[in-house]
Amino acid sequence: MPDITQTIVEEALAYGRAFTEKGKPAQYIPYLSQVNRDLLGLSIQTTDGRRFSAGDCRVPFTVQSIAKVVALALALRDRGERYLFSGRVGLEPTGDPFNSIIRLETDKKPYNPFINAGAIAVVGAIKGRSGAEKFRRLLAYFRRLCGSDTIDLCQEAYVSERETGDKNRALAYHLKATRMLEGDVTEDLDVYFRMCSLFVTAEDIAHLALVLANRGVDPASGEQLMEEAHARIIRALMLTCGMYDGSGEFAVKVGYPAKSGVGGGIAATLVDRMGIGVFGPALDARGNSAAGIAVMEYLSKAMDIRLF
Ligand code: GLN
Repeated sequence: MPDITQTIVEEALAYGRAFTEKGKPAQYIPYLSQVNRDLLGLSIQTTDGRRFSAGDCRVPFTVQSIAKVVALALALRDRGERYLFSGRVGLEPTGDPFNSIIRLETDKKPYNPFINAGAIAVVGAIKGRSGAEKFRRLLAYFRRLCGSDTIDLCQEAYVSERETGDKNRALAYHLKATRMLEGDVTEDLDVYFRMCSLFVTAEDIAHLALVLANRGVDPASGEQLMEEAHARIIRALMLTCGMYDGSGEFAVKVGYPAKSGVGGGIAATLVDRMGIGVFGPALDARGNSAAGIAVMEYLSKAMDIRLF
């Protein structure tokens, strides 16, 4: 299995560059529609402490759905696997778009934690006396998993997200009506909008992926940030549901667990080896970074790291 080198990292970025024109930034959140689609950054961090980066790997972007990974990790820590997956959210891919409402009426429990309905249900399960407390706890954990204590809200994205978040409101109120969400819906929604609007870099999400790859331990500090069993659950869900209705194709083309966000980020995790973070804001029709997928595909072939 060829090892990662700086040359491979740069070649992957050069290969991905052609794909920035193959999509466009998310249009449904006004803040995102303004982002420069030519940006492209890549960061790779290995479990044995090596770091590689190329391009716009330190340019901040909104984490969007990649935050669902952190929310899930925190809810698992707070409530445990049995509580979360028996009553709140499922473990199955849907094949539907990430913000789809259609199955909620027939199945009540959202199919998985990475579609919007599932993530909102997961936020509902995070402990905290108020939305503000939930978000404080989530942000503190987020910073530790990303290895950066400066990560914070992008206020402009948050306002934009909140102003245009009616589909997410519909999902949350539906969950409330069927008692899948029991707290204050407006507060849980606010936590959801805020967590999606956190500003991160490709390096930050590579670190998050690295902790997952390293079975929950931050290799830099040796600290166990999440239980090994929880890291395994999250990696499995990333593989089956992390790229929404593009998860099957991604598994065939790329072949390792990854989670995307409509901000253009993708975090991918290779157990015992490395975390990969890529950022390219132009999205394909399913809301996944077009250039990001191309970069991941290149890496997967160059290092022969497909699981299948
Ligand atoms: N904030 C976005 C939304 O709720 C997150 C979706 C995504 O990244 N796929 O629509």
